[in-house]
Formats: sequence, C-alpha cells, structure tokens
Amino acid sequence: MGYAKRAIEEVIFRTPGESEFHQSVIETLTPVIPFIESNKIYEELAIIERITEPDRQVKFRIAWRNDEGKIKVNRGWRVQFNNALGPYKGGLRFHPSVNISIIKFLGFEQIFKNALTGLPIGGGKGGSDFDPKDKSDFEIMSFCQSFMTELFRHIAPETDVPAGDIGVGKREIGFLYGQYKRIKNVHEGVLTGKGLDFDGLPGRKEATGYGLVYFTEEMLKSHGNSFEGKTVLISGAGNVAIYTAEKVIEHGAKVVTMSDSNGWIYDEVGIDLNIIKEIKDIKHERIYKYLEYKPKAKYFDSRFDWSVPCQIALPCATQNEIGLDDAKNLVKNGCIALAEGANMPTTLEAIEILKENKILFAPAKASNAGGVASSALEMSQNSSKTRWSFNDSNEKLKLIMKGIFEKISETSQEFGKSGDYVIGANICAFKRVSEAMISQGVY
Ligand code: NDP
Repeated sequence: MGYAKRAIEEVIFRTPGESEFHQSVIETLTPVIPFIESNKIYEELAIIERITEPDRQVKFRIAWRNDEGKIKVNRGWRVQFNNALGPYKGGLRFHPSVNISIIKFLGFEQIFKNALTGLPIGGGKGGSDFDPKDKSDFEIMSFCQSFMTELFRHIAPETDVPAGDIGVGKREIGFLYGQYKRIKNVHEGVLTGKGLDFDGLPGRKEATGYGLVYFTEEMLKSHGNSFEGKTVLISGAGNVAIYTAEKVIEHGAKVVTMSDSNGWIYDEVGIDLNIIKEIKDIKHERIYKYLEYKPKAKYFDSRFDWSVPCQIALPCATQNEIGLDDAKNLVKNGCIALAEGANMPTTLEAIEILKENKILFAPAKASNAGGVASSALEMSQNSSKTRWSFNDSNEKLKLIMKGIFEKISETSQEFGKSGDYVIGANICAFKRVSEAMISQGVY
C-alpha cells in the first residue's frame, strides 16, 4: 500500500468514533492520492499526518441561566486546525448534534476551502451542543456571554477569527462580540458576520448563497448552459438557503422546494421568498407556516428526499442530507447539476452516482467558499478601519467565485480529469496549503 492510503488509514485508526471527520478526510484526500504519490516530499515531510492533526483543540464548559433561573450546562469546542496560510478562520455552530467529530470535519474542510479563495486565511471551526431553537433572546445572550468568557482567551484578529454557521447568525455574533469587547476592552475585528450597525461587511450575510449561485452559473456556462428557465430544488431555510434562493430567482430560475429540520415545502409555481424571510428571519417559526400564506403549496412532515423533478439541486441545510437514494431520485428526474451550499451535504456513495451519470458536481469547498471569502474582506475592512459598500464587496465576491471556478477547472484539465471539480478543488487546495507548510518548516 502506498504512503497516502496508509496515512489515511492511520488517521482513521487514531481517531475512533469520528465518522464525519473520517468521511471528510477520505473525501478530500482520496482524489489527491496520485498527486501525493508522484511527489516524495509529501511522505518525507509527513504532510498527511500533519495536515490531518489539528494544531490544537479546546473543549470547555458553558454554564448559563435560563429564563426560569435554572442553571444549564453545555459543551463548547474550538479546533484551530491549520494556520499555514493565515489566522485560523471558520464559523461557530450551535446545534444539539455538535460533537468533536463534526467540528473536526468542518475545520478540516475549512483549511482547503480557505486555500481556494486565494486569501490569507487558515482553517478552524468551533461550536457547541447548545440548541438556540425556542430560546428567548435573553437566554441566547446569557449562553453567548458564557461561551465567549472562555473563548476570548483563544482568539484574536491575527490569531483566530470565528464567524457564524448553523444556529449562529447576526444576533449571536452581536452578543458574542459584545462580551469579547467587555472582557478585552478593545474594539477589533475578532469575529466576522457582524451586524452593519457595528463594523460588519455589507454583503456578508448574502455572500455564501450569492457566491454559490455565481459559482454554479460559471459551471453551467462552461457547459453551454445557465440558470435561466430552470427548476431548482433547495434544502434548508436558513442563511445560506435564503440568499441562494434570492440569487437563483434573480437569475431567472424557479425555486420549488425549501426545508427545515421538521419537514419541507413544495410550491409548484415557485416559492415566494418574502414569505420565507418573514417566517424564518423575522418570526423564527417553522417552515410549515408557509401554507398559511400559500394554501396551494404542499408541506411534507418528513425528511427532504430530493424526489421532485428538477434540473439543478442546491443542498443548503446540513451534512449528509443527500444519500444514495436521493442521488438516484435526482438522476431519474433529470437533474443536470448539483452544487453544495452546505458543508459535505452529499455522501461519498451519492457523489459516485452523480458522477457516473455525468451530473455536474460542485464540491462545497469550492462552491460555498463565498462566505469565508467575504469574511476575509470583513477582516481587511476592520483592520483598515474603512467601510466597504455592498457593491464593492459583491463585485469582489463575483471575481473570487469566478477565480475559484477557473482555478479548479484548469487543475482538473491538467490532471487529465476535465470537469471533475472534486479532483480540481482538492488538488488545487492541497497544493497551496502543503507548499506553505513545507516553506515554514516542520512543527
Ligand atoms: P442556518 O442555521 O441559518 O440554517 C440551517 C438550515 O438547515 C435551517 O433551515 C435548519 O433547519 C436546517 N437544518 C439544520 N440542521 C438540519 C438537519 N440536521 N436536518 C435537516 N435540516 C437541518 O445555517 P446556515 O444557513 O448558515 O448553514 C447551512 C449550511 O451551510 C451548513 O452546512 C453550514 O456549515 C454551511 N455554510 C454556512 C456558511 C455561512 O456563511 N453561514 C458558510 C459556508 C457553509 P432548523 O431551523 O429546523 O434547524
């Protein structure tokens, strides 16, 4: 067995029970194996062993009081994975399913995604098993203050700059930032995804969704196609899903599905996004409420199974939401392209089915990199004490997404796998990170 396969097996052996992390290591490194084997320096400098082991991981207790005055205890993590290219950068996820495996998979993905942006940012991720659903604003604030009371000692603008992810939006970032400032007595760009009322970047909240659509449009264009007139399935109804839907609609396509963790809606005539924004963003309610506004739409009280006919699928909820049967549904119903908005939403088996059936497939580390790219712009806005306009950041985002597509497309051609964006993205990102690691010596 060659070095790369052996090293990957060793990672799995040394991290028992971390199934999501294993999946992400296999998904990222398997396409790079021939490249790694063709260059002995990777083995000599133990690059796989080093890149798969976080620089450090912190686990901590978060005690907070609920509205009844009861003390609650949650767990928090911050994994600082790799800073060869810049300060650790990656979001915080608040969701009851969060554990070290999920944080490590997200942190590992983040190293490579951040490398693809071409910007000076390393990879990290954090979060908690706290569930923000059904909590009052006061409870959320109490939790966030306690979370930051530990996290502040591990982060700084040139060290580690967290952002949002599932369950962490503008409200949570505001409370976290307030507590950081209270403890450190400095107003500095230590978090991104901040509100526009205090140092946020115009266009950051839209960036992951808009970036996904800019990337997908480039991919479609290179195959003589576009969004115009297409039927699109989107999962999720959070930050990424909403702004993906907004841009898809602007590109002349029809979005017919969205979902949350309780169920999904199907609106044959096209989802009215203003209603979704009101339900999810303003009222923080469940998605079935859509039917109160649009009684002809349908609601399914079940897991979204991608069974509605479409040409384009954009998963924007969570990891492993498209399995083998879902991929078969997409193939059967005429899907031509799938671009990942969520992180690792497609299982390895499902990716195989899509590839076998020549469906264009955009991996998350390329297609959803717009969020972190804009976060890096927010960091530079904060450090230069300037104010960007929405137009400035949106134009820059378009260029970055186009650049990522071109880079990974060229790399796929260079390695004789034209149009295989999984190979293109992983080799391209691996090269950038490993070259920086090699230059910086062994540590
Ligand atoms: P939000 O919390 O804003 O929205 C998440 C959406 O997905 C909600 O509709 C949520 O439903 C649904 N969801 C979450 N968990 C599950 C589950 N286990 N099963 C079914 N549905 C679920 O998060 P974001 O939109 O920010 O993130 C979505 C995805 O995009 C994640 O994979 C994230 O890592 C990725 N991402 C986000 C970026 C960002 O800038 N925000 C950047 C790059 C990637 P409910 O409300 O019921 O929980």
